[in-house]
Amino acid sequence: MRHLFALWIGFLSLWGGEGYNGKSLIITLPSPSGMVITQDRNISVLSHPSIPQQGIVILPIDYYSPLGDMNLTWSAPGKTLSIPITIQSVTYPTEILSVDPSKVTPPPEALERIERESTRAKEIYAHFTPIRYWNKPFIQPLDSYITSEYGSARTYNGTLKSYHGGVDFRARTPIPIIATNNGIVVLAEDRYYAGGTIIIDHGEGIYSCYFHLSRCDVQVGDYVIQGQNIALSGATGRITGPHLHFGMMVHGTQSDPLDLISKLNALFETPKENYASISVH
Ligand SMILES: [Zn+2]
Repeated sequence: MRHLFALWIGFLSLWGGEGYNGKSLIITLPSPSGMVITQDRNISVLSHPSIPQQGIVILPIDYYSPLGDMNLTWSAPGKTLSIPITIQSVTYPTEILSVDPSKVTPPPEALERIERESTRAKEIYAHFTPIRYWNKPFIQPLDSYITSEYGSARTYNGTLKSYHGGVDFRARTPIPIIATNNGIVVLAEDRYYAGGTIIIDHGEGIYSCYFHLSRCDVQVGDYVIQGQNIALSGATGRITGPHLHFGMMVHGTQSDPLDLISKLNALFETPKENYASISVH
């Protein structure tokens, strides 16, 4: 049995997994302790939602992340482990969009507001709340189909180049929007680019974002439960037409929301292999 355990640890020390730019990589660790050290930050190890004796680290990989091999270090009391990962490139589609010119070249009087809103959003996303509100699998914020996927390389009005930081759902007429999981409302206001906006803190560095809303039904500080109506979709902010923009942030980095949800939800499924049965004798 000792050999089995050593083999398992040895496997982890050789290979942490393959990541993709714009998506998150979830790495399972033998215990829910310590932190994982990357090139530019330390990320807390969280408890595994369905295997309490194991840990997970949710590593968001920036859309513009360098590709290739990268070495992570897991540092926990009494142990240090090297975890190599490989970052590969995703080929995202391209989109050419036409929007109100003021949303590409803002008037001077809007610049201060844009800067203020950007700074506030970064402050919110950088905050780590050490409570797990996301204690069940995530759900979609409305029942509709996708009109624009995460990650599209976008050109606005032939000049501004950007990428799509969330996923757009069709919502031609105002549709009730529901909370993807339990959490605390940390922002509910009208913003220059995002229009009517709600941000929910799900704890442990995970946030969900709902943009272009026509009506907000919650306030900052409200505890919302999964499936609760929080807003009506709309056509506010920088848009080509009415829709819901849905995004997810992890440890301050934008991540493909539906990919992240599917990976987080998989953690709630009954594990195929029960590592708990492995013991050292
Ligand atoms: Zn969008």
